[in-house]
Amino acid sequence: MQTDYELVIIGGGPAGLTAGIYAARARMNVVLYEKSAPGGQVIVSDWIENYPGFPDGISGYDLGDKMLNQAKNLGLTIESEDVTAIEADGECKTIHLNNKRKITTKAVIIASGASPRKLNVGEAKFMGKGVSFCATCDGPFFRDKTVVAVGGGDTAVQESIFLTRFAKKVYLVHRRSELRATKILQERAFKNDKIEFVWDSVVSGMDGFFSVENVKIKHVKTGEEKNIKADGCFIWVGINPNTDFLKDSLNSDININASKSLKMDDGGFIHTNERMETSIPGIFAAGDVRTTQLKQIATAVGDAAIAVMSAEHYIDNLQD
Ligand code: NAP
Repeated sequence: MQTDYELVIIGGGPAGLTAGIYAARARMNVVLYEKSAPGGQVIVSDWIENYPGFPDGISGYDLGDKMLNQAKNLGLTIESEDVTAIEADGECKTIHLNNKRKITTKAVIIASGASPRKLNVGEAKFMGKGVSFCATCDGPFFRDKTVVAVGGGDTAVQESIFLTRFAKKVYLVHRRSELRATKILQERAFKNDKIEFVWDSVVSGMDGFFSVENVKIKHVKTGEEKNIKADGCFIWVGINPNTDFLKDSLNSDININASKSLKMDDGGFIHTNERMETSIPGIFAAGDVRTTQLKQIATAVGDAAIAVMSAEHYIDNLQD
């Protein structure tokens, strides 16, 4: 079977770039498609101190950049393209790109990652006008200002601590009375005088003239509502998988598409086995886009190494 590539990798975050590094070293005929800047979510993380090899930690941007350069130095082809659908017609997989180009391949690794979840309480109106999902990008705009941060996971706690470098006050609003974040992050947040916790509460709205001026908070137990006067609202309430391009295939004119039989969980994360095989032979998934207990750079990197090994075995067996 003749195809344009042996392997197509979708996504240029830590999982995608690691898959690229392994595939390039295995001298596979491989291309990686990334629709925006390579590096993935990691490049907007302020500081990473749980990825081995960097005893003093490393900025997310630098780590993403190092992974990208490593992949490029090994000869990986990276193209800036938006994948719109995967057609899985038996052994041949067709990748549909936004520019209407179609590419054929024997195997695919989906490493398209995840994106920040929205609250849908009116924040869309204030995007870039006080509402943000990225402290590294927007934190410096809030020097000596008051901000509300939402969430109780690693991202909310770590990024709130980062925000205190600029903001004079950070209200951290969490829907329970206990944080989900790793203990070391909790300890640092509890010690930080600039962070005030608003427990058992959710953000129910926001208002302002040109930009955010008030964030509305609702107590989940009493129903009591109050306003926090704030200049910004940072939302970190988890992540959604970037699998829309698979779902969209259902409504397109593509008659056979991956999403019809690609098993996902209720949240849209892709099911795999321990070999990173999805429910469709020849399609693998790695990193945050798959159903996992732990979503870390270290686990994404491990997934990707396994996915490439499995893809190589799959392709070898096709040739047999
Ligand atoms: P997460 O771990 O899923 O936490 C999301 C938080 O938002 C939870 O505390 C959740 O509350 C809350 N939440 C969810 N929906 C909400 C809603 N509608 N309204 C209000 N609050 C809501 O997500 P994350 O913090 O973005 O982290 C994602 C993954 O990346 C995790 O696996 C995390 O460990 C990893 N990560 C790791 C690091 C690190 O190692 N340094 C840094 C960042 C992220 P409940 O607790 O009540 O469910």
